[in-house]
Parts: sequence; C-alpha cells; structure tokens
Amino acid sequence: MSHKHRDPLYPQGYKGVFDTHAHLYDARIFQDAENVLNRALECGVDTVLVPADNEETSRLAADYVQKWDGFNSIDLYCSVGVHPHEASSYTKDTETFLADMLSKRDKYKIKAIGEIGLDYYYDLSPRDVQREVFRKQLKLAYELDIPFILHERDATQDCIDILKDAHKNGMLLPTPGVCHCCSCSAEIAKILLAMGFYIGFDGPLTFKNNKKTPGVLEICPWDRIVVETDSPYLSPEPNRGMTNEPAFVTLVVEKIAQLKGVDPAEAVRITTENGRRLFRI
Ligand SMILES: [Zn+2]
Repeated sequence: MSHKHRDPLYPQGYKGVFDTHAHLYDARIFQDAENVLNRALECGVDTVLVPADNEETSRLAADYVQKWDGFNSIDLYCSVGVHPHEASSYTKDTETFLADMLSKRDKYKIKAIGEIGLDYYYDLSPRDVQREVFRKQLKLAYELDIPFILHERDATQDCIDILKDAHKNGMLLPTPGVCHCCSCSAEIAKILLAMGFYIGFDGPLTFKNNKKTPGVLEICPWDRIVVETDSPYLSPEPNRGMTNEPAFVTLVVEKIAQLKGVDPAEAVRITTENGRRLFRI
C-alpha cells in the first residue's frame, strides 16, 4: 500500500501530554522502546499508562513500567486485568494473581484494572463467560477502590445492564473508570457519564468516515475527556494505517480542540488534568 511510504507526522510544540492507553509491550513497538519513548518525549508526551489484557500482558505491562519508568524522565503507569477476548482464560489462579499484583500496586505503579468488559463483535470467549469475568473484575475494582478501563464492542445493552446493576447495588465507585476507545452513541455515553465515567478518545475520532464519535465528544463535558492512542492500533489521521505510538496522541488532542473550538494547548492541559484525576496520579 502506498501509505506505507509516507512519513509519519510528529506533532511539535506541546508539553505535559498524557497518553492514557498504549500497549507498549506489544511486539510491534516493544523492540524499539527507546526510540518510541524518546519520540513521545520530543512530542511533549511525558506520561503514559500501559494497559493489559490478560495475565501475561499484565506481567508484561508491569515489567515494562519497572524497566522504562523514569527513562529521560518519562512517567509510566500500568493496569492489570483480563480483556473480554481472554475471558475464557480467567481462573481462580488469575484472580489470585490479580489480587497479588494489586496488593503491590504502588510498587508496580498500577493505576487501574483493565481492560475489562464485553466484546460481542469478535466473540473470542463465550458471552456468558465474558459477563461473569466482567462482573468479577468490576467487584474487584470496587473492593480495592481502583478505577477500571472499560472495553465494550457490540455488547452495549448487556454492558449497560451489568453496570447499572452494579451501580444500583452501590458497587460502582463515584468515578468508576474510563470508557476506553469510545465507540458508543451519544445516548449511551450520557448514561455512562451519569454513572461517573470518563470517556477515552483516540484515533477513530480523527477518521473521516466516523460520524458517531464527534457526537459523543459534543455532549461530553470538558472534565470527563481523556485521550489515548491504543498503540500500536488505530493510528490517528494523518498517520492512519501506520503503527501507532504515544507520540501521535496529540493528533487526537488537536482534533478535540478543533471540534470544541479551543486552543490545542488548552485541550492538552485539560485532558492531562483529567487523566491524572481519573487515575489518581
Ligand atoms: Zn487497548
């Protein structure tokens, strides 16, 4: 494909940017960690949260943070948890493992449980198992007083039902977490916002054919917006199709600034403040 030969755009002139979601242990960007982190810093991205999706990547995320945190002063955090794709792998041992990691959350700089949720688009684990594993981790997040990173795809009704149930039973924190890579409608986003969720925006907000997510941004209050790359996936325009990395997160912030009609530097300041409040940094 011709776009392979384009040069990526590295946004310049920013500082204090927080990429709240980058899978830095992924093989596509892990080998090149030093360059990936240096490019992030050159683009003003000085804080990154590395989310996990199963037991193995929870370890990898924590190891990554142990190894690279503080490299040229970069501030790294991670999460641990089991993604709906991997729900079938969740056993009693997984629960023990997560509880053990979370009991050392300061040491490992763990700031959330996640990604957790439901994914009926790929259906990589049976739906009833997904729901059960989601509920278990929701409970864990509540009991340990830690926010979670929500992944939901094509499972909106079940996801909202489970969250409403937890909410009704007083088992959701006032700030439960973030709806990561928000792909829901503005209507559903309103329900999540009312439950105290933050909304995570990333590459798809910049995609020309995406009519839905700008509508979510429009109704999302400023103090609930966080930005993420979901590296190495979903690279924002004009770098769409390339391997994503934290350095590109400001392209998402610029899009938010454009749609909300504010100065990009102001959008950086607010989204970083939001991310730090959400993850208690
Ligand atoms: Zn992710």
